[in-house]
Amino acid sequence: MRYRAPRGTRDILPEDSWKWQKVERAFAETAERFRYKEIRLPVFEQTELFARGIGDATDIVRKEMYTFEDRKGRSLTLRPEGTAGVVRSYIEHSLGGGARVTKLRYFCPMFRYERPQAGRYRQFWQWGLEAIGSGSPGVDAEIIDFCVSLFEQLGIKGCVARVNSAGCKACTPSYNEALREHLRPLLDRFCDDCHVRFEKNPRRMFDCKNENCLALLEDAPAILDSLCDGCREHFDSVVRYLERMSVSFEVDSSLARGLDYYTRTVFEVHYEGLGAQSALCGGGRYDDLIEELGGSPTPACGVSAGVERLIQACDTESGGADVAPGPDVYVVALGDDAALAAAALAATLRSTYSVELDHQRRSVKAQMREAGKLGVGLAVILGEDELRRGVAAVKNMETGNQVETALADIPEVVGRLLER
Ligand code: AMP
Repeated sequence: MRYRAPRGTRDILPEDSWKWQKVERAFAETAERFRYKEIRLPVFEQTELFARGIGDATDIVRKEMYTFEDRKGRSLTLRPEGTAGVVRSYIEHSLGGGARVTKLRYFCPMFRYERPQAGRYRQFWQWGLEAIGSGSPGVDAEIIDFCVSLFEQLGIKGCVARVNSAGCKACTPSYNEALREHLRPLLDRFCDDCHVRFEKNPRRMFDCKNENCLALLEDAPAILDSLCDGCREHFDSVVRYLERMSVSFEVDSSLARGLDYYTRTVFEVHYEGLGAQSALCGGGRYDDLIEELGGSPTPACGVSAGVERLIQACDTESGGADVAPGPDVYVVALGDDAALAAAALAATLRSTYSVELDHQRRSVKAQMREAGKLGVGLAVILGEDELRRGVAAVKNMETGNQVETALADIPEVVGRLLER
């Protein structure tokens, strides 16, 4: 029996994990600049939280949740998304208060029983932001700006946010009716799932994964034409903010999100180089969710992004030229005494630099070859003869220049050459 990672999951191996660290670091740094504080939550929650929060008619709740009973028969679910848990915690710990906007971020794995394909997994990672406590369109614009800025910083070029409105409780009922009226004559040609969506929430049909259904929706009425005055004003204001902030965006009246809690602003950022699963992130406003989950009425806005897709987009942009950062220094040693001296030198240098050395007693040539392969900046070569004279050669691997240096001076010389 050979065990394998479960279908739809992936091991992140050392040859790739540096890419994850790069994305996580860039995300955390940008989030600190935008003042979003990290929150770490349980991997599973009560099933009811997701059923209520995400919506009974959504694909996630109907077909994709990893739900199980614990030993006491409680129904629990591995989190399929981040917002419901954040809102649960916000209410449970009274994180709001006063006029403050609570700005939170997360970076963690999510679980959905979806059909695995390129860019779609059963365990995947998301980073996300939630800004709870303000109904200002400026918050929506700030979050959209965050996404586009971070993607650009990661080297993903040409990102344009697609922005739409999901309306609110006041304007969606009449829109749903207009939509049903338009779609009723075409209903026979939609998939079975869309028949259920038609009854429960026809806007969910825009979220169907079936190309055939999406084509049938092309001439459907646009929600932007049915917005109430408040939603219209909010949408126009978000657009004005984005224009003033020079954020690249376009209005996409067919954009629908896969979760039911959205009100007013919804948006996605796509990267065309990813093929069918091109959405890097998606988000929007959820002004009713906090009350829905037992809190007092509180407006909020958020986003989540798929880390696997971001990494794929970075790889596509760099053409694979982006490589793992190598160590600063490789200490090359020949002979027993040199191995001891190399270990002592590495121990000193490691207080500041990343240092690699050979633990297999290979030839100088093999060690130098490895140093080259790792892309180190400097090699410090400790031969037996040099050691007897109390010196070592410090070689700049880029220029090939080599200087003989007294052992005691090596940390200083290395420091000067690496300019720290
Ligand atoms: P959602 O939570 O559905 O709004 O998705 C937000 C983002 O998460 C999407 O734009 C994708 O980048 C990513 N994502 C969603 N589902 C998956 C999945 N099954 N596998 C990988 N990434 C996903």
